[in-house]
Amino acid sequence: MINKTRLNNDIEFPCLTFMLNKLIKANKSFSNLFEYEEYQILGVSPKEILELLKFSASMELLKISKLTTFLFSKTLDAVEVEVSYTSYNNDDLVKLCFYEKPGSSLKNKFIYVNRICEDNLSGIAIYDAVNLIILNVNDKYTRYWEPPFNKKENCLGKSLPEIVPGWNKSKEASLWKKSIESGKTLELKEFGYHFNNKGKIYWDYTVTPLYEDGIVKYLIHNSIDVTDRVLDRLHIEEQSRLIAHQNAMLEQTLKEQEEFFSNMSHEFKTPLNVIFSALQVLDLYKNEDPFKESKISKYKIIMKQNCYRLQRLINNLIDISKIDSGYMKLELSNHNIVDIVEDISLSVAEFINNKGLTLTFDTDIEEKFIACNPDMIERIILNLLSNSIKFTDVGGKITVSVLDENSSVKIVVEDTGIGIPEDKLKVIFERFKQVDKSLNRGHEGSGIGLSLVKLLVELHKGTISVTSVEGKGSKFVITLPAHIVDCSSISAKDIVTQDNIERINIEFSDIYALQD
Ligand code: ADP
Repeated sequence: MINKTRLNNDIEFPCLTFMLNKLIKANKSFSNLFEYEEYQILGVSPKEILELLKFSASMELLKISKLTTFLFSKTLDAVEVEVSYTSYNNDDLVKLCFYEKPGSSLKNKFIYVNRICEDNLSGIAIYDAVNLIILNVNDKYTRYWEPPFNKKENCLGKSLPEIVPGWNKSKEASLWKKSIESGKTLELKEFGYHFNNKGKIYWDYTVTPLYEDGIVKYLIHNSIDVTDRVLDRLHIEEQSRLIAHQNAMLEQTLKEQEEFFSNMSHEFKTPLNVIFSALQVLDLYKNEDPFKESKISKYKIIMKQNCYRLQRLINNLIDISKIDSGYMKLELSNHNIVDIVEDISLSVAEFINNKGLTLTFDTDIEEKFIACNPDMIERIILNLLSNSIKFTDVGGKITVSVLDENSSVKIVVEDTGIGIPEDKLKVIFERFKQVDKSLNRGHEGSGIGLSLVKLLVELHKGTISVTSVEGKGSKFVITLPAHIVDCSSISAKDIVTQDNIERINIEFSDIYALQD
């Protein structure tokens, strides 16, 4: 409490007298307390002198009643005073009096803290615990704040909510409040705050409440900048995460490689075993009399088909690894995509019919020239058709359509086959992924056809997607960009060649009962 026993004797208390809004007198006590000599302040207004003393409350409030607050001397020492404003004759004569709380000067009160402050080893601030007004602070503390608060003279007398945007709603504010209420020191480790001009800064800090007259009166905020330590640690953590991720990837690659080789050897062994067995049977027939020509030719077909399967496997593997390593060159020329798809579909129509299936070709345009590689497009269509044949029962339907979408072309291969379970729709484009991997599955296949198809489509900057309903059928949709390349001649594609028959045999080698 402020000692007012001498209130009636103004002369002994620091007082200022203003006439017509100008200072006409500052008594000796005022100069002693605030270190301003009368001649330095003569002529200033009450408002100006209060600003000089860093008075933080409103002047209007002061006119109504006396206020107790901290004011600052010329050398920035905080003293707690009761300020009274008395006016006479319609504000013509104003008296401002300051009743100092005995021993409130911070310079004398916190000698030890002030000494640590000056050392500037850690950021230190002394706050008034009621309004969180800064009473003393060192450079280390203010240097992080945005201007103008990065200077001691500009933040003394200011409150934390004035300096730190969003303070009142912050989690930090509620922790400080708890510390003030409980009187217990608050300790925060690696507390991060984002500054517009410096980015994120981290501190280890304590807020220690100090009691006076039985209540928490001051807070000492002591903070150490640990940004470098935290950033170093975060960097190391990030690096470790990266290394762990890379290790996991490496492990995964090794695992995939292992799987790849075991899958491959299995895929190679199957047709090889068939060929060996066929050869053994042929050896038996060799000694038979009469020579059974029809049986021999049956085993020759089996051997040929399995040679094709081996060839397809090798072709696919070579192409996949070429694309993987970036060696596959996409030679583009402009072709009528409708013709390419129709011709390759029709060339296998008879084979499909012989399998008890019907093939329909459908289009909404006569011609559409796009930049593509016809060999690859054929490969794509044959792969999809081969799957449709494999997974569609006798009596089923296969439809191939080409649809114009102006800036793109859609090629759709649809069947009424067994369909694909929803959870397998994404994985079938991955290498060696098959819905049914069991040995007694009703069809052959290595599980790399669709992964190659996807790579070939993507080489054309296109996309492939699949929709399917189990038991109803599957629909593969390829979208190719309909752009044209700059080349002088548009090459036509004659697909009815021996080469193509061979190619069909290779691509269809998983389906038994091949053409001779
Ligand atoms: P595969 O040589 O085994 O046919 P693919 O990569 O061509 O390998 O196909 C992968 C898997 O996708 C097949 O094993 C099959 O389970 C499923 N699949 C592909 N096309 C169809 C289709 N039209 N109908 C049903 N399942 C299909």
